[in-house]
Amino acid sequence: MKVNFVDLQAQLNTIRDEVSAAMLDVVDRTAFVLGPTLRNFEERFADYIGMRHCLGVSSGLDALALALAALDVGPGDEVITAANTYIATALAISKVGARPVLVEMDEFYNIDPTRVEAAITPRTKAILPVHLYGQSANIGPILELARERGLKVVEDAAQAHGAYYGEQRCGSLGDVGCFSFYPGKNLGAYGDGGAVVTDNDEIRQRISTLRDYGQQGKYVHLVKGGNHRLDDLQAAVLGVKLRYLDQWNQSRVQAAQRYGELLDDSKLTLPKRADWGTHVYHLYVVRAPQRDELLQFMASREVYCGIHYPTPLHLQPAYADLGLGQGAFPRTEQAAGELLSLPMFPEITPEQQAFVAQGIAEFYA
Ligand SMILES: *Cc1c(COP(=O)(O)O)cnc(C)c1O
Repeated sequence: MKVNFVDLQAQLNTIRDEVSAAMLDVVDRTAFVLGPTLRNFEERFADYIGMRHCLGVSSGLDALALALAALDVGPGDEVITAANTYIATALAISKVGARPVLVEMDEFYNIDPTRVEAAITPRTKAILPVHLYGQSANIGPILELARERGLKVVEDAAQAHGAYYGEQRCGSLGDVGCFSFYPGKNLGAYGDGGAVVTDNDEIRQRISTLRDYGQQGKYVHLVKGGNHRLDDLQAAVLGVKLRYLDQWNQSRVQAAQRYGELLDDSKLTLPKRADWGTHVYHLYVVRAPQRDELLQFMASREVYCGIHYPTPLHLQPAYADLGLGQGAFPRTEQAAGELLSLPMFPEITPEQQAFVAQGIAEFYA
């Protein structure tokens, strides 16, 4: 048996006809950029998340950078974010010329809200919590702190499409919510893509201008914007897949429960569930003794695992300028040496999961 880390083919098999028809419809209309298919998807995704506006953009990274730019975050400003995240979160802050200020994680691998206040300085403009691995960060205390201090909140929900914090979807709690539609995400396009959601009319207008050459009306360029649009072919794919998102997330939750039962007695530390929100298991992340050897052993049995992420971003060469060496975030650093992401996708079968668990048991035996 072979178990891929993510199996996009298995998902395609369930929706091939619908996706083909939707893509062909865009081709037949020859409306490829900022067309009706994109507008339709934007309306539906805004409804789904529970914000008034959605704008499709070119990637998750661009979604974050456009959100920050629309909030006037720029050179000289600081943005507080999670030390344990994908590097794109920090790169978006750098892209607008601001400085990322990192905060240690909690036991759920998300930004620890009790450490955010100490990171605020007179230069702080915004807080950028990440809902990592599919689990809602503890954003309530962060929203409260931001209100008290007059700071903006941008959510990185690139791994948490459909997850809830309390009664609200991740991405609908801050000033702007940002999503990636990279193919492997819970809602993934067939190429790059992303979206911003907001309730604020002015922020919507600014991002709409910034994503399209700074235009507001044809050939009227208000600012030096760029080309950061989501194209209609991707919106067609996403429009079909959005109908299945809740069902697919439910399948991920069931698969996570099954892993929980199968691995209960193993040497692994299983993911903890926070009571303030839900988890949509973009990744099923465990901690494993002898992680690197286990990863190799599993690959030799054709079970493909991942590491998210092997090197914390403050220890990456790209962020040497932060001047934060080993020891700056002990929890994040220790986790980086132990974290292992097991195969996780909605179509994974109980037999495949049993095979994964059997491999783990054999490795430690
Ligand atoms: C994927 C991801 C991004 C970046 O999205 P892209 O579409 O790849 O640019 C940002 N933040 C997090 C947490 C992600 O997982």
